[in-house]
Amino acid sequence: MALPVVSEFSLNGYLSLIESIRGQGYQVKRYAEASSSARHLILRHDVDFDLDQAVRMAEAEAQTGVIATYFILLRTEMYNALSGEGAKAVIRLAELGHDVGLHFDATLHAPTKAALAVAVREEAGVLSGIVRKVVNVFSFHRPSPDVLNDEVQVEGMINAYNEQFFRAFGYCSDSQGAWRHGPPLAHPVLAEGRGFHLLTHPIWWTGEPNASPQQKLESFLKRRIELLDREIQRNCRAYRSTIQANSSKSA
Ligand SMILES: [Zn+2]
Repeated sequence: MALPVVSEFSLNGYLSLIESIRGQGYQVKRYAEASSSARHLILRHDVDFDLDQAVRMAEAEAQTGVIATYFILLRTEMYNALSGEGAKAVIRLAELGHDVGLHFDATLHAPTKAALAVAVREEAGVLSGIVRKVVNVFSFHRPSPDVLNDEVQVEGMINAYNEQFFRAFGYCSDSQGAWRHGPPLAHPVLAEGRGFHLLTHPIWWTGEPNASPQQKLESFLKRRIELLDREIQRNCRAYRSTIQANSSKSA
């Protein structure tokens, strides 16, 4: 009998990737405790689209005893980490034992190192208030080369894009639902036994295993529209009455 095919970009595919790396002697570490000269693996997730998908990934990781860092945007149109449901999801990530970091969009601020450092600290303070834990690590969302080269330093915080994590560690990232810079298991750092910094975006790993990246985004959009529809109904009686009248007509 043929074995079921495990789509690489699925939760099972992700867990077996982590198992393969751990099978090469790697230990999963948090940013603050990871060393580039040891077989240490940092699991980083930038949450660009969907907090619920991040929670699904976090639960799967927690079940296998793996700790990751989830970077959360505060200033995005995709989700609201301050809303009731959004905050619940962010708190859940922390309750599962994962670290919560700030995902920061530098394009919304003045492009100077000093201004960016102030804004990172402010946003990290807001995020700390949600998770009720100190947020001391941040990553940039879609950083420009200038932002990367500038090495923004914030006292007491770790920049996940600083020289150490970006160059001393082997670095590998998914992009738009694929390994555009080569698959992680082929990364030379594994053979060298140095630290490995792996960035994945939950949206590409959750949902229907065989769905294309386009379908995963469409599914996310559908869920957002349904959520907004429910919220409009909750907040506006006239809208709710019209929806109910239309659905009874078509029944
Ligand atoms: Zn991002």
